[in-house]
Amino acid sequence: MDLGIEGKRALVCAASKGLGRGCAEALAAAGADLVLNARGAQALERAAAAIRAAHGVTVTAVAADITTEEGRTRVLAAAGEVDILVTNAGGPPPGMWTDWERADFIAALDANMLTPIALMKALLPGMIARGWGRVVNITSQSVKAPIPVLGLSNAARAGLTGYVAGTARQVAPHGITINNLLPGIHATDRANALDRAVAEAEAITLDEARARRAATIPARRYGTPAEFGAACAFLCSQYAGFIVGQNILLDGGAVNATL
Ligand code: NAP
Repeated sequence: MDLGIEGKRALVCAASKGLGRGCAEALAAAGADLVLNARGAQALERAAAAIRAAHGVTVTAVAADITTEEGRTRVLAAAGEVDILVTNAGGPPPGMWTDWERADFIAALDANMLTPIALMKALLPGMIARGWGRVVNITSQSVKAPIPVLGLSNAARAGLTGYVAGTARQVAPHGITINNLLPGIHATDRANALDRAVAEAEAITLDEARARRAATIPARRYGTPAEFGAACAFLCSQYAGFIVGQNILLDGGAVNATL
């Protein structure tokens, strides 16, 4: 299927591994040129080289912390005119409501709400001027169904979701769509870290923690970055122009809800 985005320029944040990498691979497979970001330069360069070799697209790698103003300034300077923006960053740590102080909330809001908002604010004007754009924010299933130990994530991502709901409708007349992808559990380093925490807390092995979690998912398995990336690439395609301001769960049926 030709997604109609060959030659478009995509900025994919937090993309040397995991879900961001899945999105980058799928966009590159559709012919989009990439600006890739992550903090660690080595893994980022490896990812960029692998994507160039596999898909023959241009890949510019910018090692920077996307949650800082300095990092975003460097990424945006290297990115230039961007047609497709995929926002992503690491998720906040798990804990208890009794653990979190103001500074913890500010850090979570910076990473998972204010960073995507700043990137959209910087790049939407260019998309408006060119009359076409796609934004996909990687959020979490916690937007639809709270994950109690991830209270910082629940809070920050809910804020971003509210912002997107309004802004998506303001930019839609210019041929721009903004949507959120809500991952349930996917097989990435982040999932390993969460499973390790469960294994330690409950004195079980990592495999047992994984098997227990998988058993709670109707699909009885974790999602893959490749599946996630394919959904992202579709949302960025010419066929998705009428999908505006939506929150799309990719969770194997884990959130038990009718709508
Ligand atoms: P991951 O496998 O740990 O990968 C995270 C990627 O983001 C890496 O490339 C990492 O590289 C980069 N990164 C992290 N913090 C960054 C920062 N401040 N600036 C730039 N790059 C950064 O994580 P993932 O599983 O793909 O998760 C991605 C997002 O989805 C997270 O917000 C997570 O909370 C959310 N999510 C994941 C799942 C899941 O099951 N995997 C479920 C729900 C929500 P560096 O470390 O080198 O920067």
